[in-house]
Amino acid sequence: MNRIRLARLPILLLTFALVSVRAEAQITAIKAGKLVDPATGTTAVNQVILVENGKIKGVGSGLQIPAGAKVIDLSRATVLPGLFDCHSHMCQMTLPDNRDLFTTDIRQTTSYRAIIGVKSAREYLESGFTTVRDVGNNGLYADTALRQAIENDIVPGPTVINAGRIIAPFGGQYHLQPERPELGNPEYLFADTHDEMIKAVRQNVQFGALVIKIVVDDQKYIYTPEDIRFIVEEARKAGLKVAAHCMTEQGARNAIEGGVASVEHGFRMSDETLELAKKNGTVLVGTDFPEKAAEYLGLPPDIALKFHNIFLDRLKRAFKVGVTMAYGTDTFFQVPGETRGTLAISYIDTFVEAGISPKEILKIMTTNAASLLGVEKQRGAIKEGLYADMIATPENPLDNIQTLKKVSFVMKNGRIVKQ
Ligand SMILES: [Zn+2]
Repeated sequence: MNRIRLARLPILLLTFALVSVRAEAQITAIKAGKLVDPATGTTAVNQVILVENGKIKGVGSGLQIPAGAKVIDLSRATVLPGLFDCHSHMCQMTLPDNRDLFTTDIRQTTSYRAIIGVKSAREYLESGFTTVRDVGNNGLYADTALRQAIENDIVPGPTVINAGRIIAPFGGQYHLQPERPELGNPEYLFADTHDEMIKAVRQNVQFGALVIKIVVDDQKYIYTPEDIRFIVEEARKAGLKVAAHCMTEQGARNAIEGGVASVEHGFRMSDETLELAKKNGTVLVGTDFPEKAAEYLGLPPDIALKFHNIFLDRLKRAFKVGVTMAYGTDTFFQVPGETRGTLAISYIDTFVEAGISPKEILKIMTTNAASLLGVEKQRGAIKEGLYADMIATPENPLDNIQTLKKVSFVMKNGRIVKQ
């Protein structure tokens, strides 16, 4: 370092210190005409929310707005916590002309998948999803790279709880042929023995996974309750929960008995298995495809309708039984005219069709989801001390849930994303 540079150093440091102090001191005051608390399904009027350093500093009707605070006037809108999608695949995208997972996955490189993820993440955030749990199918850890890029402010996106590679019995969700078994990589970590299961969990933890995703029953040989308990225990040691993809009644039952945090899909769950989920505190992430989304899975309209009706029936029964549910969509495909975010929000239509009240839907999209993801002490409510993740809608979603499709304001970690 030469002399001139050295001489400038104190000035540089002082400037840096002043900028830091100013950034820290910046308080944002949000005037909320209505403020919804999804946990209780109640609305408070004329509230002020103070945000500092990315977190909520205070909420109330008589709060003094400090001098110099940046004021955001949402007095004509309804403010509520940011939404959650507990079942995303941000780095996967089948196209309308190629809806087959296997060919899509093997044709796209991980770097290409990461770029898809950047687009999905921005679209999720713009639609009001401030947190997502991403459950695999991301090539070779494109999801970890995406999460880190969001955390390091390189690209915009929601808070991500990512799964890394999906752990599954041999073959995963593919039907391989004997000459090319390696085509199952890197999409899945095949684990059939307990040694392989330990290794698969640890590999995921090492490479940045924050949740473990297993596929229980997409082959004729499925994970037993003992296998699942073993994986759950290994994940627990590293502080991770387990999400289980279950397509069959038996698979869902095994997953619940094995102690997973959530059953994903669970389309074939009987009332008895739903009761068991309720008893054990297993959360159902139903990925309840609306009819249109089912069509874009590549199913002919009559089959899409048939599937949609199966999802709808299970959703109604799950609600009747009283299983704890968290919102999850499973959008991994491109629908013309829709972004990943608008597509994800459209799944509320299935809940409306099932007769579930706006109050319950909101809880499923925020409070329940935050607890499932283990972030309830940081996110999922507008309360002092939590991160300032919030959205605004023109109407009160407790009166008209469809207003969630018109999110007009998004703040994540105290920063405005959309206004
Ligand atoms: Zn999925």
